Amino acid sequence: MQIHPNFASPCILSRYSYSSSAEGSKKILGVFFAAHEYAKNPEFLGCVENALGIREWLESKGHKYVVTSDKEGPNSELDKELADAHILITTPFHPAYITKERLAKAKNLELLVTAGVGSDHIDLHAAAEKGLTVSEVTGSNVTSVAEDEVLRVLVLVRNFAPGWKQVNEGGWNVAAVVHHAYDLIDRTVGTVGAGRIGQEVMKRLKGFGLKEMLYFDRNSLGAEREKELGCKREEDLDIMLSKCDVVIVNTPLTDQTRGLFDKERIAKMKKGAYLVNNARGAIADTIAVKEACESGQLGGYGGDVWNQQPAGKDHPWRYMPNNAMTPHISGTTLDAQKRFTAGTKDMLDRWFKHQAFPEQNYIVREGNLASQYL
Ligand code: NAD
Repeated sequence: MQIHPNFASPCILSRYSYSSSAEGSKKILGVFFAAHEYAKNPEFLGCVENALGIREWLESKGHKYVVTSDKEGPNSELDKELADAHILITTPFHPAYITKERLAKAKNLELLVTAGVGSDHIDLHAAAEKGLTVSEVTGSNVTSVAEDEVLRVLVLVRNFAPGWKQVNEGGWNVAAVVHHAYDLIDRTVGTVGAGRIGQEVMKRLKGFGLKEMLYFDRNSLGAEREKELGCKREEDLDIMLSKCDVVIVNTPLTDQTRGLFDKERIAKMKKGAYLVNNARGAIADTIAVKEACESGQLGGYGGDVWNQQPAGKDHPWRYMPNNAMTPHISGTTLDAQKRFTAGTKDMLDRWFKHQAFPEQNYIVREGNLASQYL
C-alpha cells in the first residue's frame, strides 16, 4: 500500500467541473462518496476525489468529466449535472437513486454504468422504456462479498462483536459473550440465491464441516457443480429456511425479492437462526428484522446494505441487539475497486468505439432487463 507523494492537499471538492468539450465528445457524470483525508491513498479509486482514476484518460479523448458526491434532493449537483450528461457512472456504495422522474429530465442520457454489481438504485423499467443501456461490472467484487459473508456469519455465530466492544471499553466479562456463542461445525447453512456470490460463499464454507449446505435459486446448479460445492438444492424456500441455522441472502433486489424477509417469512425460520444479507437492505423488512432480533426469533442479523444509503442516524438496524451491521463496505475493498474501475474504463472505451460490452455486463439493453432482474 503506498501513499501518493504528490497528492494535493485534501481540499475537498464535491464537484469538479470543466467548461469546454470538444466536438462529438461526451459529458460523463460520476457520483461517488467523498473520502476526504483517506483519498490520499492512490489505490483508493472509488471516491469522488480519485474518480476511478480515469479523468486524465477521458479528458485526453476530449470528453468532459464531472463528478460529485451530492446526490439527494432536487437541488443536488446530481440533478443539475444529469440534465445534459450523456453517460452516468454510479456505485452501489453511495447510490444515486435514478428514478423515473430523474431519467425524464436527463435529455442526453445514453448509458448508465454501475461501477460494481447491483443496479437496483436505477429504475430499470424506466430506463428500458427510454431505450437506455444499463451495465454493471459483473463479477468484479463477488469474491470480496463472499469473503465478507463468511466473516459476518462467524461474527454472529461466535458472538464476536460484544466481546470486541467490551475490551475496547475496558471491560472483561466472558459470560456476557459465551452465553450466546456457538461453533459453525455441524450446522446447516442455506443461501438464497446461488449465482456468483452464492457459489463463492458456498465454496468457502465447505471447509467448516457443516451438516448441510443448502441453496434456493430459480436455477439449478446441476449435479456436477453441486458435488463440487458440497451443496444441495431446495426447491421450496420456506422448507429450506426451516432447516437452516444460518441463512445468507445472495439475490439481486427485484420486484420479486423486495421485502422477501418479512415478518411471516422470518417466522418460518428456525428459532434463533442467523440471517446475513449483503445483497440489498430492502430484501428484508426493517421493522420485522429489528423485532425478530429483539424477540430472539433471529439469533442475529448482519449485513452491509440498508434500505436507504447512507442510513439515517435513527435507523433501527444500528441499535438492534445481536447485529453485525456496517456501512456498505463488502464489495469495495481496494482490490475490488481496482477490478470495477478497470471494467468501467473498458466499457467506456467500447462505448466510444461503438463496440459491444461483455454479454454478462448488460442489465438493460434494447428495452430488455437481464434475466436476474426479472
Ligand atoms: P448473480 O446474478 O450472479 O446471482 C444472482 C442469483 O440470484 C442468480 O443465480 C439468480 O437466479 C438468483 N435469483 C434472482 N432472483 C431470484 C428469485 N426471485 N428467487 C430465487 N433466485 C433468484 O449476482 P451476484 O454477482 O451473485 O450478486 C448478487 C447480488 O449481490 C447483486 O445483485 C447485488 O445486489 C449484491 N451485491 C452486493 C455487494 C455489496 O457490496 N454488498 C456487492 C456485489 C453484489
